[in-house]
Amino acid sequence: MRGALGGPRVLLRRLREVMAEPVSAQDRLDKIVVLIAANMVAEVCSIYVLRVDGTLELYATEGLNRSAVHLTVMRIDEGLVGTVAREAEAISLSNAQAHPAFSYRPETGEEIYHSFLGVPILRAGNTLGVLVVQNRAHRTYTEEEVEALQTTAMVLAEIIASGELTALAVPGAEPASRRPLHINGLALSDGIGLGHVVLHEPRIEVTKVIAEDVQSELARLDHAVETLRTSIDMLLEDEGVARVGEHREILEAYRMFAHDRGWIARMREAVMTGLTAEGAVERVQSDTRARMLRMTDPYLRERMHDLDDLANRLLRQLTGRSGGPEPIQLPENAVIVARNMSPAALLDYDRSRIRGLVLEEGAATSHLTIVARALNIAAVGHVENIVGQVDPGDAIIVDGVGGEVHVRPPADVEAAYAEKVRFRAKRLEQYAALRDLPTVTRDGVTIELHLNAGLLVDLPHIEETGATGIGLFRTELQFMIASAFPRTNEQLRLYRSVLDSAGERPVVFRTLDIGGDKVLPYMRAVEEENPALGWRAIRLGLDRPGLLRSQIRALLKAATGRELRLIFPMVSVVEEFDKARHIVERELTHLRRHGHGLPDRVLVGVMLEVPSLLFQLDELFSRIDFASVGSNDLVQFLFAADRGNSRVADRFDPLSPPALRALKAIADAAARHGKSVTLCGELASRPLEALALAAIGYRKLSVSPASFGPVKAMLRELNLAAVAAVVAPLIEAGGSASIRQRLAAFAEASGLPL
Ligand code: PEP
Ligand code: MG
Repeated sequence: MRGALGGPRVLLRRLREVMAEPVSAQDRLDKIVVLIAANMVAEVCSIYVLRVDGTLELYATEGLNRSAVHLTVMRIDEGLVGTVAREAEAISLSNAQAHPAFSYRPETGEEIYHSFLGVPILRAGNTLGVLVVQNRAHRTYTEEEVEALQTTAMVLAEIIASGELTALAVPGAEPASRRPLHINGLALSDGIGLGHVVLHEPRIEVTKVIAEDVQSELARLDHAVETLRTSIDMLLEDEGVARVGEHREILEAYRMFAHDRGWIARMREAVMTGLTAEGAVERVQSDTRARMLRMTDPYLRERMHDLDDLANRLLRQLTGRSGGPEPIQLPENAVIVARNMSPAALLDYDRSRIRGLVLEEGAATSHLTIVARALNIAAVGHVENIVGQVDPGDAIIVDGVGGEVHVRPPADVEAAYAEKVRFRAKRLEQYAALRDLPTVTRDGVTIELHLNAGLLVDLPHIEETGATGIGLFRTELQFMIASAFPRTNEQLRLYRSVLDSAGERPVVFRTLDIGGDKVLPYMRAVEEENPALGWRAIRLGLDRPGLLRSQIRALLKAATGRELRLIFPMVSVVEEFDKARHIVERELTHLRRHGHGLPDRVLVGVMLEVPSLLFQLDELFSRIDFASVGSNDLVQFLFAADRGNSRVADRFDPLSPPALRALKAIADAAARHGKSVTLCGELASRPLEALALAAIGYRKLSVSPASFGPVKAMLRELNLAAVAAVVAPLIEAGGSASIRQRLAAFAEASGLPL
């Protein structure tokens, strides 16, 4: 390697000394550029910092005109420095002026320098600035030099992220690392939350990045990689884990990466430049993140996520935190930020302190979303790279209405949201005032409004809302959040509490709906190509009747002396219903024979959520006591669009003739047979969709607690005959285009509160 006085390790040691000196921020930067230039035998070393306005400002230089410092400002689409910042990748050129992106700034006097090496200053994959060295001669920088400069940039990233440079900036042009962010995502759970960031998986803070002894750091890294490999092998050998389809795939990918020579070599190289093992892992992880953020191929992005997870495991090991994350102490007003999480993990937090939830992934009908809604937590999903862009404690606003997130919001945005929160509180008071009024449309049609529930935390909502009943009690939620199969007695206790809370009001219990996206962590899953179309819900219940039988027994016992309403999920052919009802009858006989008390009345029905039932409606309605339409699944299967897959979940609009015709056929069949039908999917929970459902004949809707007030307020203002007259011809006209706009226009013209 040419030049490099003492090499990168000496440089890092000197940098450490400068970092510790009690000097001003500007002096520190000035000393750093001198050190780097000398160490790399470069005539120029400059630091450019990315500002909140998206431009790059020269913060320090050795070699260029000092008078240009803080005056030279470049756009991010300008010059070589801009390219490095934009692409987050190093550029090394022996003849910079020949490069098409080269742009010349006369005030810097850089025209005499021919070779150029620029590296991004990255933190968690985000560009904070650019570090450049230049030489007069045509010089080719070696790989080692590029590597060394990148390592040095990591130290600069810490300085920028610490916020100490803000004092050097004019207002409005501060370093961008702590800038306010406004990111659009997908609204998952209604509500607005103002609070402070809590990372669900806390970042592992690497406090020591500069190595004392490179050989021992290499040994630490090798040992950590070895331990990581062994632990993944052990997990893969573990029967229980290995059988779960998706989980296994992830572990396989982990194993592949843990043996990836390129990845390991990059980390080893970083150690060779003078970083500690954890410093090296962090540096390579940051590069990976930067690449991940610029990747459009979803598959490759997912693999990058795997690599990111793996780096975290390594970091945990190297920093002695391999026992998993420590329990997090929530501040008041916590907003949980995560890539994704399980419903059980959300329930583990102290609800009273959570104001919101922000996810990089998430889907509108996933169970995590359902739990967030049950807990009344504002949630936004699909928020790109949110985990990498926040720090614990940052101020954050979650707008679960508009699907927006504001990080480190400016005072005016915060004030506007605080006002919105007050306004919403007032609206909630207005909804509360509707509590005892009937849900009757303006033209006198009664619509029964029920609640969807599944957890103990849902029960107070019955009283709060004045709901007619519980239209869907998802019994699997108790199973999903438990760490082992709930015993029959535990099930019995929950069902009894539900019936007690409901009092005289009807409750529809759905038998276990597991499989598909509803995974029980303690149950051995069968590996399936298409779990959503697989061995799930009633299919599993009929094939392994022990589980279904004991649940039905618990339900029958819980309803002693009262009415019990039961529905079976995912029924595809009427014979499945016959078989399930037969199990209920056998259990009733069993209880009777053993002298147990019995329910006064047992009504059995189905969840209508598989399209094949659309072609058995008469056979079905002549058998069942009542039906409930699961539009989440019905729409998923109608359009063959996975409800949990964010790329396709919202691709087709249920407010379009194909879906509305299917839903209307069900309502018509129920009316023909004089049987009751409720719509309990998330469709009913959105006022505009609820309006369409009422228009096509639904008189019973079951909604999430937070949607109860808005849907009720809308229905009480609705002229049902008028909307039916608008909707019917649109559906009859056919086509597949959404009628959402037309409905919204009707609602607006009629002054409906939506
Ligand atoms: C549905 O499918 O619409 C439904 C209500 O059930 P779940 O969301 O629990 O599948
Ligand atoms: Mg369903």
